[in-house]
Amino acid sequence: MVNITREQIATLAQLQRILSARDRIKSKLVNLPERLSTLDSDLQRFAHDLENEESHLKELNRRYRSLESDVQVNLGKIQKSQQKLRSVKTNKEYQSSLKEIDDLKTSTSKLEDEILALLEEMDREEAVLDHKKDEYSKRVVEIQQEKENLQQEVEEDQKTLDRLKADWSNLSGQVEAVLIQIFNRVKAQQKDGVAIAPAKNAICQGCNLNIPPQLYNELQRCDSLKTCPNCERIIYWENQERRPE
Ligand SMILES: [Zn+2]
Repeated sequence: MVNITREQIATLAQLQRILSARDRIKSKLVNLPERLSTLDSDLQRFAHDLENEESHLKELNRRYRSLESDVQVNLGKIQKSQQKLRSVKTNKEYQSSLKEIDDLKTSTSKLEDEILALLEEMDREEAVLDHKKDEYSKRVVEIQQEKENLQQEVEEDQKTLDRLKADWSNLSGQVEAVLIQIFNRVKAQQKDGVAIAPAKNAICQGCNLNIPPQLYNELQRCDSLKTCPNCERIIYWENQERRPE
């Protein structure tokens, strides 16, 4: 049986708080590269979307130029047919030329309708593109800001870690080495790295299971080191920290 005082238990509980705070910060720092790369890929996705929109608009432009050139070709043909009309000899040739001109005019009119619809679509797409470009510029600024915030957070976390390390050194020197050894051993066995937990109303706050009445009674004497029979964490009576004697 390892003897322990209320004060030593309180110190171990405080050491646990220091280490838990350290573990929280460390796991946050571990996730940092992922958070940064999420920001980058967010921006890349946006840029890709913008490129798609731009190439769609270019495609519409190409289509527009092609229709315009079809119209010019038709107009040239109409001009030629009209010249031909003046020199035709027979009524049959005359009717045939008229029909040719008529067909060309119908075709040109269809092309012009298509051009109008296309111009409207291009206007809409340009508005969409402008909006997306604005959004993108804003996002670039936001992401830059988010990165700077993260960087600042990291610097603060680093300072906190240094402070916690100093706190640990100061405090751990105040209890017997054997207690620190036990504490570290128990901590290493726990997935969440929590070595010591209070027992509240006969329930271990580390694993939320009941502590046998006999053990709970002994716990309230706060004179020897006890561990939870279930999770094996060091346990102490939760009221003892509040009422040091
Ligand atoms: Zn437990």
